[in-house]
Amino acid sequence: MIYSKIKVLHSHGWQYIPDLNDVTLTEEFRGRPELTVTDDMSDVEAAAKLCPTGAISTAPFSLDLGRCLFCGECALRAPRNIRFTNDYKIGTTSREALVVTPETKQIDFHPELVRKEIPKLFSRSLKLRQVSAAGDASIEMELNATGNVNFDFGRYGIEFTASPRHSDGVVITGPISKNMSEPLDICYAAIPEPKITIICGSEACSGGLFSESKAIDRHFIEQHHVDLWLPGAPTHPMTFIDAVMNLIGKKQR
Ligand code: SF4
Repeated sequence: MIYSKIKVLHSHGWQYIPDLNDVTLTEEFRGRPELTVTDDMSDVEAAAKLCPTGAISTAPFSLDLGRCLFCGECALRAPRNIRFTNDYKIGTTSREALVVTPETKQIDFHPELVRKEIPKLFSRSLKLRQVSAAGDASIEMELNATGNVNFDFGRYGIEFTASPRHSDGVVITGPISKNMSEPLDICYAAIPEPKITIICGSEACSGGLFSESKAIDRHFIEQHHVDLWLPGAPTHPMTFIDAVMNLIGKKQR
């Protein structure tokens, strides 16, 4: 009996990623885009018009990852000007750093914006409460994946908790609807100081497709300090892991 189980385990091989600092995603993954200026920018103007969230600006040429849904339509419409790379290291402490220009070679993390107490208190243990503020469950599933057998983020003491009272910070997903605005405030108030705020996903960063909707209420973002801005639709587990590791001082981009 036991031998058949050992055989199954053996056939699975090693499933976990041995080094989370040494991960390369497939070429198909859409991460940080590279922008190129050409003599004729008419394709970019057409791409900007078809972008569902208005993430592309033409003068000057830029692409706001905090609004981008990574649908890839702009790269199909303007292939000479917009190309998505598989660089997943796109989380940062600065909302402005999410705006990609033709000069951008990486998304800068800006460690100088990290509050000093964060690496001091949380480098060995960080518990987070997740609030889906009208999220569509895609990012929530990716956040769940950070704790699975592949990523095993728990090996660094970083896990999600069932109660805000047992957590050190909140991870917010979704554009923040009016209905979820008050529960989010209550959750945030229940977390002890000093608390970390992580905005996860392009819809959480900007409202995404719903930024003009009357059904959302983003006063939370205006009233509280945000420690991490993580774009993505959904955000890849490695984007989350990389940014959190930078935040608590476990690595440097
Ligand atoms: S990939 Fe992003 S920038 Fe391009 S069209 Fe889609 S949402 Fe807009």
